[in-house]
Amino acid sequence: MASCIFCKIIKGDIPCFKLYESEKTLAFLDINPLSRGHALVIPKFHGEKLTDIPDDHLTELLPIAKKLALATGANEYNILQNNGRGAHQEVDHVHFHMIPKPNPEEGLGIGWPQQ
Ligand code: IMP
Repeated sequence: MASCIFCKIIKGDIPCFKLYESEKTLAFLDINPLSRGHALVIPKFHGEKLTDIPDDHLTELLPIAKKLALATGANEYNILQNNGRGAHQEVDHVHFHMIPKPNPEEGLGIGWPQQ
């Protein structure tokens, strides 16, 4: 979808810090992280809400979020997906957040060395 910011990221028109890419899925760092390592996992198929995405474009999302959680080394993290403004969705392209729990001793918490 031409005006969708995440579709522009998928096309490469907007840069991102890419963590994983396959034919159907892209994962990248959130531009405004709640903790170090805060990542977004998105289907390349454009849809606003989870119910707009065909099942075969959803199958990789949680396994990839799981890999990212493992890669951060965090043993406490949240994986969440918002649908609708009332549910705090800001970007209308389905995405799963993988948010490592911030570690108070490290300030920003466990995350990617490049961050
Ligand atoms: P939502 O509230 O679940 O829709 O979350 C949208 C997320 O997208 C927020 O955490 C934003 O920081 C993130 N975001 C918005 N634009 C960009 C971008 O250009 N690159 C990476 N993350 C983005």
